[in-house]
Amino acid sequence: MYFSSFNSEINKIEDVHQIKIDVPWSVKNVSVYLFDHKGSKILFDSGLNMANWSKLFFSALKKINISLQDIDYCFISHNHTDHVGLAPTLKKRNPDLKLLMHHITYETLKWETEQENLSEIEREATKIANQMITYGFNESQSERVISFLSYWPKLRQYQKPDIILHDGDKILNDLEVIWTPGHSFGHICLFNTKTKYLFVGDHILSRITPHIGNYIVPRFLTEQYEGYDFNNILSHYLDSLDRIDKLGPKIIFPAHQEIIYDPHKRISEIKEHHKNRLADISRVIKDKARTPLEISQLHFGELDDTNSFLALSETLGHLFFLENQGLVHSIEKNRKILYYS
Ligand SMILES: [Zn+2]
Repeated sequence: MYFSSFNSEINKIEDVHQIKIDVPWSVKNVSVYLFDHKGSKILFDSGLNMANWSKLFFSALKKINISLQDIDYCFISHNHTDHVGLAPTLKKRNPDLKLLMHHITYETLKWETEQENLSEIEREATKIANQMITYGFNESQSERVISFLSYWPKLRQYQKPDIILHDGDKILNDLEVIWTPGHSFGHICLFNTKTKYLFVGDHILSRITPHIGNYIVPRFLTEQYEGYDFNNILSHYLDSLDRIDKLGPKIIFPAHQEIIYDPHKRISEIKEHHKNRLADISRVIKDKARTPLEISQLHFGELDDTNSFLALSETLGHLFFLENQGLVHSIEKNRKILYYS
């Protein structure tokens, strides 16, 4: 794959370098951040290992006069390939670099990339695909769900971390790890308690609301997190937003799109978006029971199979949230689940 239209951009925001490189997806670009802290050089997220992204990344480093050998720590926000993809290469080229990730991200990546788990992943994917049929999908759409969910882990890159992170850990005194589940189960943000800078990965984006979904979480993790409601991801996401808001960040550095200079305003907009979506969903099923797929199509229109799965899972996130609050109810009819309010 070669995307000749890739462009890179280097920006300096206060004392943080942003390396921002185009990608041909809806998020438009992938950014990683470099900054000094207590005499160490820190990289937040590794970027991806696809097409000429890494080539542009290394030439951007050169332009700002930084060698990969100078980088001491690389934090990974979550397990998606555009955040962890280049980690194995970075580690290979600079074995002294310390790779840090949340224990859920570490265990998920390790599990997903172990050959012997492929059949379990396929079994879980089939289970989810069958559920999607009850939510309105037809057979061929559900087949696509299986290939999508079992293909995804094959794109992952696993690199054993040097430091395994937990919520609340403080690295080099002031860099606080904030566990922010929602977009991904093991997602973290990194908060500099001195400068109030917040590195957020995909937790908060400037122009779109991040996708909320978990998909396949290895069973040993669901067992370990017994008290965590895996059906109500949206509530975890909203809680994670509130937590971030309370920290009072000064600048938000996201992995895609634009830097956010008014964090509280952007957080409020995202919360407002979900509030409106929840109200819309309740309204369209008032006195009329519909399948989640019908509800999803009312909002997102007709989409291709992959995007209609993402749209459906987003809609389910909202439905489960409302159901949890007792605001909507479900019934089963002809082996389809319908929701009404
Ligand atoms: Zn991303």
